[in-house]
Amino acid sequence: MKYIFGPVNSRRFGLSLGIDLSPKKKSCNFDCLYCELESAKPKNTIDNPPKVENILKELKESLNKFDDIEVITITSNGEPTLYPYLKELIIEIKKIKKDKKLLILSNGALIYKKEIQNILKDIDIVKISLDCATKECFKKLDRPLKEISLEKIVEGLKEFSKKFKGSLIIEILVVKGINDKEEEFEKLNEVLKEIKPERVDIGTIDRPPAYKVSPVSYERLFELSKKIENLPVTIAHRNKTYKTDKDMSKDEILRTLKQRPFTLEDIELIFSKKSLKIFEKLLNEKKIVKKMISNTIFYTTNIDK
Ligand code: SF4
Repeated sequence: MKYIFGPVNSRRFGLSLGIDLSPKKKSCNFDCLYCELESAKPKNTIDNPPKVENILKELKESLNKFDDIEVITITSNGEPTLYPYLKELIIEIKKIKKDKKLLILSNGALIYKKEIQNILKDIDIVKISLDCATKECFKKLDRPLKEISLEKIVEGLKEFSKKFKGSLIIEILVVKGINDKEEEFEKLNEVLKEIKPERVDIGTIDRPPAYKVSPVSYERLFELSKKIENLPVTIAHRNKTYKTDKDMSKDEILRTLKQRPFTLEDIELIFSKKSLKIFEKLLNEKKIVKKMISNTIFYTTNIDK
């Protein structure tokens, strides 16, 4: 197999088969400091892009073999929206994918283009990175091609979000000393309020990065996540040993979950044993409810607090 990899078990999306549109060489219009691939000069093309028919042939074989997969993920050794036959590929995948969801992971650099918006709108889940809300941070961390502007990306995301019927997820990767400031997150919050994604995923570096940069702690991610208001946020951190053991009253729990739905994993890390008991009671009384948002269960409340 040249283009298909997996199945990979993803905590957020389930069992997934990946499609790599640039298997030979990294092809990306960013050169992020935290990239898991080798550092490379940003570019806006994929050299020798694979033929759609060759990708489909492999995909069909893999789908026959692993019929229990839940998601087909379009990704790349770089940025998948640079693939020149993306539209055709999506049309063909949709013909054979049956009940599997189609997901794309993109850096969003080209989302301002109407043609890219129109291609992506036929995908079930579109996950786009947005690490910074200020130009300085964006240039320093994501190191895009000169012609790519953060302003255009944000405008494009707002436009796309309005017309998109599937799940739009924004991912923020936090790097120590760069986008881990409260002010950056306050600005991100302002931008996210207008983009209105279905979910925000916050994470940090957990594999060797292309450049010498460091992750932040789970505690820091949690603090920063509080700046994101009224949107479901998940926090991904390999080392979830940190526990805050916060004693929260019934009212505090209801208010917190109303403002920021939590996953069970985060609740278990953040709440003390005493608060967990109150949480369970509220859940039994249906004052706290479970909601499935983009394949993830969140706990929230509709009660006015
Ligand atoms: S957008 Fe993704 S592939 Fe491109 S440089 Fe950044 S992390 Fe690497």
